[in-house]
Amino acid sequence: MAVQEICRMGNPILRKVADKVLPSEIKTPEFSKLLEDMKDSMIHYGGVGIAAPQIGVSKQVCLIQFDDDNERYDDLEEQPLTVYINPVIKILDETTEGFWEGCLSVPGLRGYVERSQKISVDYTNEKGEQVHEEVEGFLAVVIQHELDHLFGKLYVDRITDPKLLSFNEEFDEYIVPSLSGDNF
Ligand code: ZN
Repeated sequence: MAVQEICRMGNPILRKVADKVLPSEIKTPEFSKLLEDMKDSMIHYGGVGIAAPQIGVSKQVCLIQFDDDNERYDDLEEQPLTVYINPVIKILDETTEGFWEGCLSVPGLRGYVERSQKISVDYTNEKGEQVHEEVEGFLAVVIQHELDHLFGKLYVDRITDPKLLSFNEEFDEYIVPSLSGDNF
């Protein structure tokens, strides 16, 4: 178990475009350790996703894993641990929907962000295989959030109405008591 400290908003590493992962790096012990550290840190801090820059490594890789118990999407299917290396997304439907997002790098806050609900993602997995997937709903939201981390963006940049940014406690008390939201 190698839980790493999470880089928080203000740390310049979160504002850099991360380096692409080279195919020759993928099966090295160093890269496997990075993936282990990311997984351990995501689980330890209770995130549904994590990007390498959040643990101080400026590389284009992120992980996503969540259960099927999200309040927002009742038909949500659980997402087994997935490694996205050098992901590229394409918007398949311009229609956006809002979701209250949280982020391990912006602790204690959540904000309302509109994102496309249907995208395609092309990426390399941890075995070095090329994958193409079309995804919708919550997974599409989480992938877009993680991809932003690889390009120096945070969800707070995408909040169109600054009034829709809240501390967690005030969110629970005044905004949507039933919707706790997730950190990623
Ligand atoms: Zn985040």
